[in-house]
Amino acid sequence: MSAPHLVSLEAKNPFVLRVNLGKDVPESDVRSALASGDMGFLHSYTTGATVDGPGVRVVAWTSGCPWRCLYCHNPDTWNMMNGIPVTLSRAVEGLRKYRQGLRVMSGGFTLSGGEALMQDRFAVKLLSAARAMGVHTALDTNGWLGHRLSDDELKVADLVILDIKAWTPAVHLELTGMEIGPVLAFAERLAAHRRPIWLRYVLVPGWSDAPAEIEGVARFAASLGVVERVDVLPFHQLGRFKWAELGMDYRLHDTPEPSPESVERACKVFRGAGLKAY
Ligand code: SF4
Repeated sequence: MSAPHLVSLEAKNPFVLRVNLGKDVPESDVRSALASGDMGFLHSYTTGATVDGPGVRVVAWTSGCPWRCLYCHNPDTWNMMNGIPVTLSRAVEGLRKYRQGLRVMSGGFTLSGGEALMQDRFAVKLLSAARAMGVHTALDTNGWLGHRLSDDELKVADLVILDIKAWTPAVHLELTGMEIGPVLAFAERLAAHRRPIWLRYVLVPGWSDAPAEIEGVARFAASLGVVERVDVLPFHQLGRFKWAELGMDYRLHDTPEPSPESVERACKVFRGAGLKAY
């Protein structure tokens, strides 16, 4: 494994495997970085993305996630110390280089993960800095740690891209390792503050493709009144090699990708609830 200073923060895509890049940062520095937000841990950043918010985006992928989704395609982001330690000022200066281009292309900056709110102070400071330079901001989150943001801090993201992974509590728990309640509470709080949401729903055959799962999420999303679009994302096996390389037990070896027809069927359920779905 290369030393952290030799690993470029920029990546062609987030599917590159990265481990142990922050392991030499002393524990006390990690604690103060998390408390202040003056340093973060990033898996990588990518440019040119067009699916993580409106227009062409720069996307920073944070490391650290407390969830354990069975289909996670970036399990190397679970451990925060696998990421590259980056000072806030370096991250802001890096973003500044793209500011003009992003504005011309009606794009913006998306903070994703991992789970970006594992580093909530860093997330707030970085998104605020992006907004201050006139760049549209999006926060891609599973919402579970949304309580870490104050009402005022909800505004640092012009858009929240919220993953809801399943509807019935038992399926959600088995699929992600976590309870669904805090996710729904965060979505309701965003709605109460009229913050726009793009909803993401990963369609995993045998897990989240059951009508009860899709219909429940669709009804809930429609009731919020702030969901601008829904993206139904077909499950894929692109991250399988990471599970093998990390020596982790991958349960979805035999799970097929959903057919285009079943993706369209799911979209129709969301559309039937009055939402735009793609
Ligand atoms: S929330 Fe995202 S990063 Fe975390 S385990 Fe699930 S898919 Fe992976």
